[in-house]
Amino acid sequence: MRLAAATLAMLAAAAACTSASTTEPAAPAGVIARDVYAFDDAGAAIPGLVVEMRYFGSENFVGRPIAGYEAPICLLTREAVKSLAAVQERLNSLGLGLKVYDCYRPKRAVDDFAAWARDPKDQGRKADYYPAIDKSKLFDLGYIAERSGHSRGSTLDVTMINLRSGAEVDMGSPYDLFDPISWPASTAISNAARANRMLLQDTMIKASFRPLKEEWWHFTLNDEPYPETYFDFVVR
Ligand SMILES: [Zn+2]
Repeated sequence: MRLAAATLAMLAAAAACTSASTTEPAAPAGVIARDVYAFDDAGAAIPGLVVEMRYFGSENFVGRPIAGYEAPICLLTREAVKSLAAVQERLNSLGLGLKVYDCYRPKRAVDDFAAWARDPKDQGRKADYYPAIDKSKLFDLGYIAERSGHSRGSTLDVTMINLRSGAEVDMGSPYDLFDPISWPASTAISNAARANRMLLQDTMIKASFRPLKEEWWHFTLNDEPYPETYFDFVVR
């Protein structure tokens, strides 16, 4: 069975590459898509990884669970999980650990964000997540987009915790705050918070992830296995 699954994964990857597909190729009947495409549950695979899937629950900028999240689990490609495990090991040696907020994100969740962004009435979480931004400008300013790298399965949103207390370290601004203060290089935060951002960034970069200049929490694996494929299987 293992061999069959591996073969299917290779065939699927080849199909995705040659067709430059932007959606998920059909999985064979009776097979869970995440198995076919070699996705792992990072929380089960990485010792001590704290998983707080914000879009599974209501503590997010929309204020309700997002489409496509049916379980609070962090799915990532096997390659991304392997690299993330190296980050966890390094941080553990410093008395720190990783907490993930989002991992693989189905395309239908991105569509849900886009539909929400087009509805000017629904601004219940504005004060916490986009206090200085006019909601009608979220697309133009790049905070909401029609596609997300998260749907390719090798991108995640992550912060650090203190291993002893379990508390999140100070990153200078909360997760998903739509504001220039969330840029990793922002100088509007304390030196300590800036040092924490740089430590996370340096450790992720050493493990072959690349940062995003607008969000301190967002990283993508450099050699991601499905660079052209935007998956839509649900998280369960
Ligand atoms: Zn992200």
